[in-house]
Amino acid sequence: SRPVRLSVHLHAYGEGRRLLLSRDVTALDQADAMRRDFVANVSHEIRTPLTVLSGFIETLQTLNLEPQERQHYLSLMAQQGSRMQTVVNDLLTLSRLEGSPAPGLNDWQPVGALLQHCEQEALALSNVVTAHSGRRHQIHFDVSHALGMDLAGSHSELQSALSNLISNAVRYTPGGGSIQVAWRVLPDGRAEFEVRDTGPGIAPEHIPRLTERFYRVDRSRSRETGGTGLGLAIVKHVVQRHGAQLLIESSLGVGSRFAITFPANRLRRAAGALPVTAP
Ligand code: ADP
Repeated sequence: SRPVRLSVHLHAYGEGRRLLLSRDVTALDQADAMRRDFVANVSHEIRTPLTVLSGFIETLQTLNLEPQERQHYLSLMAQQGSRMQTVVNDLLTLSRLEGSPAPGLNDWQPVGALLQHCEQEALALSNVVTAHSGRRHQIHFDVSHALGMDLAGSHSELQSALSNLISNAVRYTPGGGSIQVAWRVLPDGRAEFEVRDTGPGIAPEHIPRLTERFYRVDRSRSRETGGTGLGLAIVKHVVQRHGAQLLIESSLGVGSRFAITFPANRLRRAAGALPVTAP
């Protein structure tokens, strides 16, 4: 039994008559607590780079540094600035997703182009991630079923959801590991976008919470690779708005699998394309 909080009001009406009104405000309390948590999280996310930035400014003001050292501090400052920009951009994306009507069924996006963009992003990001370790990722895209297929929805939302899953796989998988991306049509007419990696994996108790805003399993690992903790919250919203489903499976030390299943009514064969067949 959950604790319930009642809001009670005593109203006076008429001659000596009283009306006692009570209302269950437990849900309101919860919403209020969530809002406070959210504001605290946002403040923290912005304050951290801001503190670092102020520290560097003070250093530059007080120390007489060699040009090379100055340059070094300036590039660290630029990093903190772009970190704040990323957090604010993700927050704006989330608030737009929450405040606008879901994308309809008459805006069709070619799946092949969405995935091609993802592949370019994966390669570029992997170059950055593996530059440190000197060991490259094996990245494989199996997208033959995506060619000639259209998906109904918002181009920017879909691109951001697919890219977020790929970027996570690349960011959390150490150099030498592999990332496999596939698009497949299921026998019932739905289609599945799947990203598998051989990264660190995620313990089962974290999985249900991954799509919460700012939830991270390992805060410093997320930060190191430019994470905001908002990526999967964005993915969840986009998935819901497109009537799709997000599935997360993971095994510690083995890797993870993130899959989005799109409903059949949001899929069609592009005009002039060869028939799409289930595997
Ligand atoms: P972040 O910006 O921190 O990556 P996300 O919302 O995208 O935020 O993901 C939330 C958390 O889920 C991450 O901080 C990380 O701990 C975990 N995570 C997401 N994707 C993976 C993955 N492919 N492998 C391991 N952990 C992951």
